[in-house]
Formats: sequence, structure tokens, C-alpha cells
Amino acid sequence: MPRPIQATIHPGALRANLERARRAAPDARVWAVVKANAYGHGIERVFDALRGADGFALLDLAEAQRVRELGWRGPILLLEGAFEPRDLELCSRLSLWHAVHCDAQIDWLASHKTHAPHRVFLKMNSGMNRLGFPPERFSAAWARLSALPQVDEISLMTHFSDADGARGIVHQLRAFQDATRDLPGERSVCNSAALLRHGLEAEVRLDWVRAGIALYGSAPDHPERTAQAWGLQPTMTLAARLIAVQHLQAGDSVGYGSRFRAEGPMSVGVVACGYADGYPRHAPTGTPVLVDGVRTRVVGRVSMDMLTVDLTPVPSAGIGSEVTLWGRGPGGAVLPVDEVAQAAQTIAYELLCALAQRVPVVVS
Ligand code: PLP
Repeated sequence: MPRPIQATIHPGALRANLERARRAAPDARVWAVVKANAYGHGIERVFDALRGADGFALLDLAEAQRVRELGWRGPILLLEGAFEPRDLELCSRLSLWHAVHCDAQIDWLASHKTHAPHRVFLKMNSGMNRLGFPPERFSAAWARLSALPQVDEISLMTHFSDADGARGIVHQLRAFQDATRDLPGERSVCNSAALLRHGLEAEVRLDWVRAGIALYGSAPDHPERTAQAWGLQPTMTLAARLIAVQHLQAGDSVGYGSRFRAEGPMSVGVVACGYADGYPRHAPTGTPVLVDGVRTRVVGRVSMDMLTVDLTPVPSAGIGSEVTLWGRGPGGAVLPVDEVAQAAQTIAYELLCALAQRVPVVVS
């Protein structure tokens, strides 16, 4: 018998979320962001469901190659561009669009001997202060690129630092608009938070949006607004089974460090899922979980291969009972990954990306 834990990827939900992203930013083309192995879902597993996108945006050449091998002939964008000069050869061969965010990348292009001209997304640092040319140097970078015979199309992009929060996008959007006013080329600024919140505004959605986490069913601004409120569906379920039940008396503790003590008699279920499966070790007592579709809570410390849950709300549970760590439970119950992430003081991005290799995955 395999260990009773499994992740399920839901292609119908991926399709529905892609449609939701399209409705949020009408007339814009959609990059489906599939970096980090499609946010932990597996590029090969999401590909069919997301092939209705206009392009795939990702991080490195290995991921780009996988998407080409799946038969995708449309646009692919390397979000951080080349990491070293020799990457440009494969960029040409795979017909990739690639970000250009620094002078070194322009130097590499200038000395690259290619027969197939490059399509690039020139990236502005409008306030995130990670990658990109500052607004005051953006036109000069554009002029350098446009003088290169190796480059035949220059689009323009920036990335928001606070699209999901109170600070918002206005200051960065204005910096981008001001510095690009006189430049030709297609434009892209929206991540999921910006496209859900502002996609109906033509000056924000622009030509391309870059949808990541929304495609994977998580609300970028949870808990201010939930995935359900945004009309997003869970795309990954992580489920396991109870492998033991312990009956505690008042004062008994459970797990490493004896972090949880029973206040009275209670039953605790032992679940075949731990931090080596990608469940967050720092999820505290109280983190929500479903047992046979009934909502209850994690108690005690999460260990490598197991975690423990309070069975008080579901006294019928026993060995073999189904435990939903996040996603779809039995009987139509849903536990949004955002709620688990919030309890563990992280974000759904991290939980989805952290799904461990050892967890068997099915698509259904
Ligand atoms: N665009 C860029 C440049 C990114 O780095 C990312 C992800 O971090 C995205 C778009 C997608 O972001 P999100 O998953 O928040 O939609």
C-alpha cells in the first residue's frame, strides 16, 4: 500500500480561473505565469488546461524547453531574461521573448551573433527595486536596444510591489506611464492582484497581463477578499488519511515539544502528512483542516511525516478517514489554501510551490 497522501490538480478549475482572468482584463492578452513548475502544480499537468492563454511566462530555459516540448508554438516569455550570454542562443532557437532589465543583458545582446532577431520586454524598475532600469534611464536603455540589429521588437513592462495592499499601484503606474509616454511598443504591468482589482481600467490592463496566483485559485489579497469572492476555484487539493487515533486525558500532550495539552478527554487523529510533504511546519494549533469534510484544527507541532488534528467535531472519524489539508474535501466542502497560509503566517504561493516531490499527484 502506498502511503495515504495525494495531491490532485483540477484542470477544470485552472480553465475556469483563466476565463476569470480574461473577464477581469477584457481585450488584454494573458501570459499564464507557469514559473516554479507552475506554482508547484507541474507544468505538464497544467499545460492542457492553460493552453487557452496567449502565452506562457516563466523563469528559465529549462522550463521554456518543457513548454516547447509540449508542442506550444506561441509566445513564451522569460520573466528575468538571460542569466548569462550563452542563454541568448537558446532564446533564439526556442523563439523566446525575454526580459531585459540591466545593461549587462544589453551588452550580451549586442555581441550575440544570431540570424533570428530577439523580441524583448524592456523592464522598468518603477519602485520595487529588484529588477529593471529606473524611469530616468529607461529611454536611453530603449534607444540602445532599438539600435541593435539583433533586436526586432521591444515591449515594455514593470512589476508592482503593492498591488495587493494598501499602497496600491498608482505611484508605480504613474512612473511607468511618464517614462514610456513617447516610446512605441506593447505594454504589460499587471500581476494577478492588479488585474483582478484594476483590469477593467484600460490604462492599467494595457496589452498583456501576467496572471500567476489567480490561475491557481488563490486570492492575491486574502483576507481582504477571498478566492471565492473573486470567483476563483481551488486548483490543487492536498489530502491524506488518518493512520492512527489517540485518546487523550486532561493534561496529556501531543507531538514534539508537548506544545498542545488536552484540557479534558479528547481524541486526536494522526494524519499521514508532514513538513516533508510540503505542509508548513510552523502551522500552529488552530490551523484549519477538514476531516471527512468536517472542519477542525491542527493540534500540536507538525512533524516530518505526520501531523495531528482535533477529532472533537467529527467523533465518527477513525483510521482511514479522509483529511483535506487544503482544496476540495468530500461532500463539496472546500478549505481554501489561503486560509491555511494565513494561519501559518505565510502566503498560498509558498504552500503551493512547496508541495514535495514525494507526494503522488493525480490530475482530475
Ligand atoms: N510578473 C512577474 C514579473 C512576476 O515576477 C510574477 C510573479 O511573481 C508575476 C507576474 C505573477 O504574479 P502573481 O502570481 O502575483 O500573479
